[in-house]
Amino acid sequence: MIIAIDGPAASGKGTLAKRLALHYGLRHLDTGVIYRAVAKALLDAGAELTDEAAAVTAAMELDPGKFGDPALKSQKVGDAASVVSAFPGVRDALVSFQRQFAARPPGAVLDGRDIGTVICPDADVKIFVIADPKVRAQRRTLEAKGRGEDADEAVILADILKRDERDQNRAAAPLKAAPDAHLLDNSHLDIEGGVRAAIDIIEAVRAGRQQV
Ligand code: C5P
Repeated sequence: MIIAIDGPAASGKGTLAKRLALHYGLRHLDTGVIYRAVAKALLDAGAELTDEAAAVTAAMELDPGKFGDPALKSQKVGDAASVVSAFPGVRDALVSFQRQFAARPPGAVLDGRDIGTVICPDADVKIFVIADPKVRAQRRTLEAKGRGEDADEAVILADILKRDERDQNRAAAPLKAAPDAHLLDNSHLDIEGGVRAAIDIIEAVRAGRQQV
């Protein structure tokens, strides 16, 4: 089974995807990490983020062994990822890695921006997670403070809105729900509530398929 979880920055889709993978015994791929790794490679090399050729080379030389690097989580790397991910050449270079990951048995939960639309258009279930930007900013601020970091909610909200705008309006694989995606608004749900809502969607889709 392949489950596609898409949605904007800080929507909680990563945690949700991880929990669904555990629940269904599937592997999990956070595809944001891939774009973050490409961006970090450019930053580390001192290359300009606007250098498309350097970004494509970094994408082709991607080392999945580095996906666990905690430095990938920073806001700076996230912003940079949102810039380099707009290059079609970067996206093209990363398609087969993601598809191969999804295809390996017993299947996987992939979370990102274009899983349901581009990477796995035939996914068994597609969920598009949304949440009010203000709620996303609040949650992200609490997380950062929990890690002992300084966090200004207004700055985080501005970053989220800027990232949404860039991700939704780029020409290559923009952030949008696939026509057959199920919308899950978790603005008023905690993590457990979101997981339950997603499992309800998945089970309803599976039950519907068995009746055909
Ligand atoms: O989800 P995360 O914040 O880790 O993603 C960082 C950036 O990578 C996003 O803002 C987006 O621009 C890009 N991305 C993407 N396609 C994906 C996953 C992430 O373009 N499938």
